[in-house]
Amino acid sequence: MGNRIEMKTPLVEMDGDEMTRVIWAKVKELLIEPHVALKTEYYDLGLKNREDTGDRVTTEAAEAIRRRGVGVKCATITPNAERVKEYGLTTMWKSPNGTIRAILDGTVFRAPILVKGIVPYIPTWTKPITIARHAYGDIYRNTEMDVPAGGKVELVRTEADGTKTALPIHAFEGTSGIVQGIHNTDVSIRSFARSCMNFALDTKQDLWFAAKDTISKTYDRRFRDIFETVYTEEYERKFSESGLEFFYTLIDDAIARVIRSNGGYIWACKNYDGDVMSDMVATAYGSLAMMTSALVSPDGCYEYEAAHGTVQKHYYKYLNGEPTSTNAVATLYAWAGALRKRGEMDGLARLADFGAKMELAAVKTIEDGVMTGDLFALSDLPNKERVDTETFLLEIGQRLGDIV
Ligand code: NAP
Ligand code: MG
Repeated sequence: MGNRIEMKTPLVEMDGDEMTRVIWAKVKELLIEPHVALKTEYYDLGLKNREDTGDRVTTEAAEAIRRRGVGVKCATITPNAERVKEYGLTTMWKSPNGTIRAILDGTVFRAPILVKGIVPYIPTWTKPITIARHAYGDIYRNTEMDVPAGGKVELVRTEADGTKTALPIHAFEGTSGIVQGIHNTDVSIRSFARSCMNFALDTKQDLWFAAKDTISKTYDRRFRDIFETVYTEEYERKFSESGLEFFYTLIDDAIARVIRSNGGYIWACKNYDGDVMSDMVATAYGSLAMMTSALVSPDGCYEYEAAHGTVQKHYYKYLNGEPTSTNAVATLYAWAGALRKRGEMDGLARLADFGAKMELAAVKTIEDGVMTGDLFALSDLPNKERVDTETFLLEIGQRLGDIV
């Protein structure tokens, strides 16, 4: 432990639940602490502590990320009725990710981790496609009604001074039907655009954005206009200095281009497009356990996590003393991303470099044929071997030791 890498600013560490909490501690113990004098500001977002603190801990953690700039989060339980019983909760606490996202006003970027031996369902996708989903508004904050036959629906806007403007939506003659109202705000769209452009510069990838402004001439058109204005006013020079491109196209055209592409860019999506397309992209690349997730705020704060949940089924096996083969790669990448970003922000090249080496060691382990059950089922390596959770981490640790 003599020559461990020193840190300056602590990382905001958010512990979590179930199997990922088990993996969390192991990643620190087996991979990080042997090489890094780890400094963290610790928040326990495990469900029990959220209950005990009336969920104050989640808000405090988000505020700490604002203050410190970089956080790393373990997967957490979002309570439902069963969890309320299982944990004896006083209330169904909100999703911690939702709470943190609301405080940071951030955008989530999801990117697959590619390894040799696992070929995406679209084999030409040789580089990752990073999806950025706008996580505010549209149908996720809708108001909807059913309309009986003979009914009539209008869209009414009341301005601050009371001026009313009404537009007819539809007169339901001879049939009943449905209606829905959705909204978005310029502030939220602008934040989204900035987060995407910052992340593109950060990761040195082109940025694509698509909507349906030919049909939606006011709503989707506003998204396009804001992206283009933010780009020309704030980012165009930085993009061209970095040799990067921002381009807007129609969503239909974007889909066609994505399928034909090799990957290697960020695809900014409106809320619904991002919801749906992130599932498609994750599935096509093989496994949710090989998907990372970064929350980036428009003012440059970063939170890293795995895209998957707490892997509850594996945890119950673990509690029974049965062997588990849970994939720790996405959790490891969350730590690696956070350490790397912390290193960059604090001007600590060794720390940033260590983050990159953690990723290399994980990829090398899998490409050597040592992998967990989920990857074993997908890999076409001839020498592949299925190992348990801890062996997998120990094997990564050995390879990490060789390159640090
Ligand atoms: P999950 O934890 O992602 O697991 C679903 C299934 O996917 C697992 O049963 C497992 O399949 C496979 N899987 C996921 N991650 C894996 C890994 N690292 N290694 C190997 N296999 C993996 O989703 P869930 O079971 O629907 O949710 C469990 C809890 O997680 C819920 O309480 C939910 O609220 C929470 N959750 C949290 C987050 C977050 O904090 N970001 C996100 C999603 C869900 P097999 O059983 O077939 O092996
Ligand atoms: Mg979805």
